[in-house]
Amino acid sequence: MVVRMRRNRSETAKRRSHHALTGAALVKCECGSYRLPHTACASCGKYNGRIVIDVVARAKRQTRRDKRRQTALRESGQISEDKEKETTQS
Ligand SMILES: [Zn+2]
Repeated sequence: MVVRMRRNRSETAKRRSHHALTGAALVKCECGSYRLPHTACASCGKYNGRIVIDVVARAKRQTRRDKRRQTALRESGQISEDKEKETTQS
């Protein structure tokens, strides 16, 4: 960088005056948890008063996937059974 391109502190500060982060604008869902506006709720699966995500089925699917991954890891020898118990307890 040459001197011609150098920016003084004032110009740097002016540029960085737009760098501040703002918090996410959260709204309270009818189930009581917070969600992003214009977005389906992750905890109850509702949007605009009607259910658009089957939360129960999603949770079941997730537990099934986790179980299958655990068995795959155990069979490949990457994780031992007593180690797995520690992770489930914590
Ligand atoms: Zn909700």
